[in-house]
Amino acid sequence: MPEHVSTAARAAAVQEAAPVSVSAAAVAPPLLQLKNVHKEFHGNAVLKDISLEVAQGEVVAFIGPSGAGKSTLLRCVNYLETPTSGTLLINGEAAVSSAAKPTKSELITLRRQVGMVFQSFNLFPHISVLRNVSLPQERVLGRSRAEADERSMQLLERVGLGAKADARPSRCSGGQQQRIAIARALALDPQLMLFDEPTSALDPELGAEVLAVMQELAAEGMTMLVVTHEMSFARRVSNRTVFMADGAVVEAGPPEQLFGSPQHARTKRFLEAVLDR
Ligand code: ADP
Ligand code: MG
Repeated sequence: MPEHVSTAARAAAVQEAAPVSVSAAAVAPPLLQLKNVHKEFHGNAVLKDISLEVAQGEVVAFIGPSGAGKSTLLRCVNYLETPTSGTLLINGEAAVSSAAKPTKSELITLRRQVGMVFQSFNLFPHISVLRNVSLPQERVLGRSRAEADERSMQLLERVGLGAKADARPSRCSGGQQQRIAIARALALDPQLMLFDEPTSALDPELGAEVLAVMQELAAEGMTMLVVTHEMSFARRVSNRTVFMADGAVVEAGPPEQLFGSPQHARTKRFLEAVLDR
């Protein structure tokens, strides 16, 4: 290109030459950014300046001892807990205008974008499985009952529970109830899913059904943060595993690196203890 061509024209020419996906990836902000998130309970720091970026489609597993702050971190991502300080950005935009005092509409928007699945399933016992999945869509998204039920059926089929649509949750196993809870969260079309030990209340074979659904979701490109004590799941499914202890990220990296050659003594001790079991 001749010398006299302007910088802008050169930039445009370069952009044109680059494959679209590359230039789009270069400009798109991460789906989730946490900047210096700090959380205290009664003056006791349980999250100490956590900074983290999660790209669209990434699966990040969080492991670490009980009390490390893993649940608190996830709960800060959808403001079930209000961080004491720090910033949360979704697609490069601050999720709330005032970190300490989010508005109600900001919280509603955030919780539509961020679905959450807990250890306990929290289904309504007195209504059908289908209605459990439909009601939040009607309340939060304003979908009609017919529209919501149709979407619910699709999602129940997807988690292998179409046949349970008319049953009460009590007629379902724990693993089935957790899959219903996943369908319920997906029904709000979240951009990001949080899972806090979704299988720890389940017998291993029922937990395996839930992990299989989560693995499929990951393969379909859902962005997920997963707190888990299932080391094999973290190892197989996550793109990045984060080891937390005492409210801080001790070490993070691709699972083959974190599990294969942990760098910190604290990580090694933890992995030896849990993998020996
Ligand atoms: P993890 O999920 O890694 O086991 P948590 O995030 O649940 O850890 O807890 C981190 C620390 O914060 C623990 O010491 C816990 O006792 C404390 N904690 C969590 N929630 C609260 C709360 N609502 N009030 C006071 N302390 C809390
Ligand atoms: Mg926890």
